[in-house]
Amino acid sequence: MIDLKNKVAIITGGTRGIGLEIVRTFYENNAKVILFGSRKETVEKAIETLKKEGKDVDGYYPNLNNYEEIEKVIKEINDKYGHIDILVNNAGISANSKIEDTTSADFTKIMDLNVNAMFNTSKAVVPYMKKNNGGVILNTSSMVSIYGQPSGVGYPASKFAVNGLTKSLARELAPFNIRVNAVAPGIIKTDMVSSLPKEVIEPLIKTIPIGRIGEPKDIANAFLFLASDMASYITGVVLQVDGAARN
Ligand code: NAD
Repeated sequence: MIDLKNKVAIITGGTRGIGLEIVRTFYENNAKVILFGSRKETVEKAIETLKKEGKDVDGYYPNLNNYEEIEKVIKEINDKYGHIDILVNNAGISANSKIEDTTSADFTKIMDLNVNAMFNTSKAVVPYMKKNNGGVILNTSSMVSIYGQPSGVGYPASKFAVNGLTKSLARELAPFNIRVNAVAPGIIKTDMVSSLPKEVIEPLIKTIPIGRIGEPKDIANAFLFLASDMASYITGVVLQVDGAARN
């Protein structure tokens, strides 16, 4: 029922984890997919992995904190494909240290990628989406954007900002048929979680009412729904996909 045929989708942080699964899922549902990563090597590796799966995607590695560079890459993509329909702002980093051990530079680094970069890519695609009479911007938030987190304060603070950006841009851009939503994942089995020892994983699972850690596919499917026309009247929401975890 969901078909992203003729849709051009850009996914930041698309080289691994949740982002790579969004790339796969959008591709499997017929979108033309362009992934962004932080480095040439990781972008090439992801493209190679996908090629082995029979998936042909394009990739770029712009500095997400350099607006001029982003504007140039977005123009290049629009010139190449004719339109940009979907932007998924997924790149993000987290933190765990206590406030006394967090420097102001650590705090700024998180805000730069998780919030400022999201502003840059969104600002750069909006003129093209307006010209195209619509589009979809989706952001990766986190369950910590609802409950906070007892460490690494920059991370939850950045994700609260992601929700603010999502809800505000949704209201600003709705008249232009541009929908803006976020997905707030719980604990998801990406590399970091998979490498945790059994003694850490088992108590963690006990805190999740649905009884398991989330798979990247659980999150990618939520993004797919929100990117599709099935969600045509949904904008400004932060969709919690966390098995009812309340950590
Ligand atoms: P990951 O570390 O596996 O992937 C992060 C992605 O971001 C990579 O593709 C990487 O290339 C990109 N990235 C990192 N630094 C970058 C930079 N400076 N410039 C450009 N790109 C950069 O992480 P993940 O777990 O897949 O997380 C993806 C998103 O999901 C993040 O926004 C994260 O906050 C969010 N999230 C993850 C979980 C979880 O349990 N894994 C839970 C809630 C929210």
